[in-house]
Amino acid sequence: MDEDLERLKQHLPLLEYLQRHNWSGRRAGTQQEFVGLCPLHRETHPSFYVNARKNVFYCHGCARGGDLIRFVEFFHDLSFPQSIAHLKQELASVAHAASVSEVLAQAAAFYQLELHRHPEAVHYLGRRGLHDSALIEELGIGYARGGNVRRHLAALGYSLDQLLDTSLINQQGRDAFCRRVIFPCSEHGRIINLYGRSIGAAFPHRLLPRSKGGLFAWESVRYFSSIILVEGLFDLGVLWQAGFRNTTCALGTHLTSAQIAQLCEPPTRCVYIAFDEDENQAGQHTAQQLARRLEGAHLAVRAVHLPYGQDPNSYFVAGGTAADFTDCLERAQPL
Ligand SMILES: [Zn+2]
Repeated sequence: MDEDLERLKQHLPLLEYLQRHNWSGRRAGTQQEFVGLCPLHRETHPSFYVNARKNVFYCHGCARGGDLIRFVEFFHDLSFPQSIAHLKQELASVAHAASVSEVLAQAAAFYQLELHRHPEAVHYLGRRGLHDSALIEELGIGYARGGNVRRHLAALGYSLDQLLDTSLINQQGRDAFCRRVIFPCSEHGRIINLYGRSIGAAFPHRLLPRSKGGLFAWESVRYFSSIILVEGLFDLGVLWQAGFRNTTCALGTHLTSAQIAQLCEPPTRCVYIAFDEDENQAGQHTAQQLARRLEGAHLAVRAVHLPYGQDPNSYFVAGGTAADFTDCLERAQPL
C-alpha cells in the first residue's frame, strides 16, 4: 500500500497537479520552491508555498500543509480513501493525455516537414506577413495537405483507434485538416491541440475538438508585466516577429475562466487588448466585457485602437511597423 502511494505521488508531482488545477506560482528563493495564492483559503497576498523537490506544500495563511494526498483531502473535501481513488482516476487521465499529446506531436512534426514541400503554404504565410523562418520554426508552424497524415502515423505504429481518439482522423477516415496551415498549441511543454487555418475556401478556423488549453505560449509570456492580448495566431505571429514577445492569444475573443485566471496572477499587470476593429462591434463588445472582469481583479486594462476594419495582423501586412504599433500602445485608453 505504502509503495502504491509513493508511486502515485511520484507519477503525479504536487506542483504539476496544482498547475493542472490552474494554480500559478512564482519561484521563491531556491530553484525548487514556489509561492502563490492559497487554493484552500481566500487571500490577496500569496502565502502558499510548494517545495517541488520534497513534493509538499505549506500555507502560512491557513497553516495547512502536507503532501499531494493531504492537499486533495483539503481541496476537494474528501476522505483519505476517496482522495486515493480520485488520484488514481487523475493518473489514468494524465496517462491518456500524454498518449494523445504524443500522437499530436508526431502529427505536428509531420506537418512541419510538409510545409516546405508545399510552396502554396509558404506563400500564404508570406501573404499574412509571416516571413521570419526562425520564428516559423519556433512556433512549429506546419501545413496539412490532407489525405496523408493517417498513413504517416500508421507507419509509426499508431492504431486507427488512437488516431480517432485524437480527432486527427474523423469517423469517415478523413483527415481533420485539409489545406490548412497548422499551429501546435502547447501547455506545460506538451502539445494539447492543433489549430488549422484554411488557405482555401473552407471555413477559416479549425481546432480539434479538444481543450484549447490556457493562453498561447503562456509559459514564456507570463513573466511580462504588460501583456498584449490578441484574437488570432496570425496576429500573434506578426507581433512576435516585430519584437512584441509579450503577446499572447486566446484563439478567439472568449476567454475561459482558466485563461482569465492566468492573466490575473499577479494582479499587478497591464493588459492591452488588441482585438479586431470589426463592423458589427462584436470584438469590441467582448473586449469591454473582458475589461470589466480584469479590472474587477485590479488589473490595468487598455484598448488598442487600430485603423477601422483592421486587426494586428492586417495592420502589419498593410505596412505598419513596430514603431507605429508602439504608438498605438501608447495611445491605448482604458475601455
Ligand atoms: Zn491557505
